[in-house]
Amino acid sequence: MTDTDSKPAYKIIDHTFDTVVVGAGGSGLRATMGSAEAGLKTACITKVFPTRSHTVAAQGGIAASLGNNTPDHWSWHMYDTVKGSDWLGDQDAIEYLVREAPQAVYELEHAGVPFSRNEDGTIYQRPFGGHMQNMGEGPPVQRTCAAADRTGHAMLHALYQQSLKYDADFFIEYFAIDLIMEDGANGPECRGVIAICMEDGSIHRFRAHAVVLATGGYGRCYYSATSAHACTGDGGGMVLRAGLPLQDMEFVQFHPTGIYGAGVLITEGARGEGGYLTNSEGERFMERYAPSAKDLASRDVVSRCMATEIREGRGVGPEKDHIYLHLDHIDPNVLAERLPGITETGKIFAGVDLTRQALPVVPTVHYNMGGIPCNYHGEVVNPTKDDPDAVVPGLYAVGEAACVSVHGANRLGSNSLIDLVVFGRATGLRLKEKLKPGASHKPLPKDSADLSLSRLDHFRYAKGGTTTAALRTEMQKTMQKNCAVFRDDELLAEGVEEMQAVNAKMSDVSVTDRSLIWNTDLIETLELDNLMGQAVVTMESAANRKESRGAHMHEDYEDRNDKQWMKHTVATFNGWGGPDKARGTGKVDISYRPVHDFTLTDEADYIKPKKRVY
Ligand SMILES: Cc1cc2nc3c(=O)[nH]c(=O)nc-3n(C[C@H](O)[C@H](O)[C@H](O)COP(=O)(O)OP(=O)(O)OC[C@H]3O[C@@H](n4cnc5c(N)ncnc54)[C@H](O)[C@@H]3O)c2cc1C
Repeated sequence: MTDTDSKPAYKIIDHTFDTVVVGAGGSGLRATMGSAEAGLKTACITKVFPTRSHTVAAQGGIAASLGNNTPDHWSWHMYDTVKGSDWLGDQDAIEYLVREAPQAVYELEHAGVPFSRNEDGTIYQRPFGGHMQNMGEGPPVQRTCAAADRTGHAMLHALYQQSLKYDADFFIEYFAIDLIMEDGANGPECRGVIAICMEDGSIHRFRAHAVVLATGGYGRCYYSATSAHACTGDGGGMVLRAGLPLQDMEFVQFHPTGIYGAGVLITEGARGEGGYLTNSEGERFMERYAPSAKDLASRDVVSRCMATEIREGRGVGPEKDHIYLHLDHIDPNVLAERLPGITETGKIFAGVDLTRQALPVVPTVHYNMGGIPCNYHGEVVNPTKDDPDAVVPGLYAVGEAACVSVHGANRLGSNSLIDLVVFGRATGLRLKEKLKPGASHKPLPKDSADLSLSRLDHFRYAKGGTTTAALRTEMQKTMQKNCAVFRDDELLAEGVEEMQAVNAKMSDVSVTDRSLIWNTDLIETLELDNLMGQAVVTMESAANRKESRGAHMHEDYEDRNDKQWMKHTVATFNGWGGPDKARGTGKVDISYRPVHDFTLTDEADYIKPKKRVY
């Protein structure tokens, strides 16, 4: 549908770039800088103002083996990340991450990130869960570089300031709707993206040699999440509609310490600085479950122990449904200096003065290990029978939207911020290598805007019986009930059925605002459509994996089963049937991709699987 078509007539404004980055969080900004630095004509499209991206909320810090506060080495960081991933991470990509990490932190330092300092002027590093010395032997290592408890804030502002000095065009408060895809010689290729300017409703077609999806996670498909309301996984939704798969979606991280009731995060840095958890008996129960790492065991482990305490009747509060986090024994001066943000958060969201009282906390959805499969250059992978690592020409993914996979089945705290800048930079380098600035473009396919405009138009005039908000709540509650910390066959089978029913209701959604000017009703419906596909895929991938690994704790199969299940899940979703069919069948197809059990160089040893204890 272009302006020459009859109904509906949407006028399209055309743009031509070498690279279009969708997203201006930490990963999108770093990729934008890399692309622009390489002389490529670069656009960055973002639905929220760059410094409002969820990266701004990151508190605890960014991991790199600088060794400022304790001895450290990249090989220890590699060991911890592989172990944290429960051996589902790709070891070549992990080696790349940990070896590039120190340089990436120094780059941020030089870009102006005001890191907290040690007496000798070096960057202050704090302990974080699952990060140890001596190839996992311990004691805990201090590896997480912090700007008090506002590290993401400091990082995002520095990156945005830096990105302005490059010649990149920012399209702010533009909502990307769908990718422009074409069948190439060896499968699908990406040729650009369609977006709507939310302020005036104009439609924009961005033609590009490379589209980089840096759209963040999809935490909002759960009812209680630490992620921002904008974390609706739009990139993942676009990928599913393009007929491409998502990877390892069953692995959803619950952060141990979301404030009870509010879902707002209390950084793991709080336990890094000496905080500890207690049950209704006042017992520091983590000493029982993880004698060595205690409260600093990795997140999946701590969340599970908390859920077990609550299930066994040792939760706190009138309903015995949460746990206490203590910081009241820590010197108030240390709290004021190192954790000022959460001191304030505790007051506002829990009404607690944490210098005197314990904070009520509960495991809360926090991070998506799964996402758009890609390699360590950021190139999106669409596995074929002959090549499990086949790339999709023109399409890239970085940040939480991507699954590289360095986090495998469970991400270690402070390993996401480093992932953003390391792979954002790597993507820029790959673009430099692959693209020639200003190279000519093939003509776009005739139907380049059809998918986007038909969806936009469909939802704009949707007059079903269910509001977007009601349907979103139904999806969130189903995910929260049937796909949480503990899972079993019965719960998941019920979840699959219920999510299919919730998804089917998308055809009954109602939108009341028909305008195109700042139509939040319409935008939220497009976001819900993105969340919905990923919720269905997450539930079905979880029901399909008959083992326990990392964040996926399956009570009917309590052990990790490397023989059968050391492989990535790749799942496609037939949710949107294209312009002519209103919706597809909702069917999820699952296949697999091998985990990379090799390292990048001979300098790193392959880390052999063993039982994961902390
Ligand atoms: C409360 C909290 C605290 C955290 N603390 C830490 C920490 O201390 N250390 C750590 O390592 N990790 C932490 N994490 C995780 C980490 O912050 C995130 O994984 C990371 O910031 C995600 O960055 P990103 O660049 O992938 O995406 P985001 O920062 O989420 O940005 C997404 C971008 O995509 C854009 N976008 C999305 N959809 C569209 C669309 N349709 N059209 C146009 N633009 C679009 C948005 O406008 C935005 O700019 C934390 C997460 C949370 C929620």
